[in-house]
Amino acid sequence: MESIGCIVCGNRKTTPYIEVLDRLSQNSETFQLVKCDCNFVFLNPRPTADEISTYYNSTDYDPHNVKKMINGVDYTSVYKRLLYVGNSVK
Ligand SMILES: [Zn+2]
Repeated sequence: MESIGCIVCGNRKTTPYIEVLDRLSQNSETFQLVKCDCNFVFLNPRPTADEISTYYNSTDYDPHNVKKMINGVDYTSVYKRLLYVGNSVK
């Protein structure tokens, strides 16, 4: 985890806002949200670039198991292809 300044104004002085669980994860790790003087609320400390993949590298992670149903039709595979295309277009 790394401590960061506000990504909006750069201020490093923050106050604790709320401690939360990852609602999409099965583990009990808690995360601290802080509030900057500019009123922006963000995760701090946050996972480093090397650590962040551990939170998404699981088939149990809920967004990986999202079913996209529209009028009773399963559009999950179409949705995943659109996400792939959308993320590959820069
Ligand atoms: Zn700020």
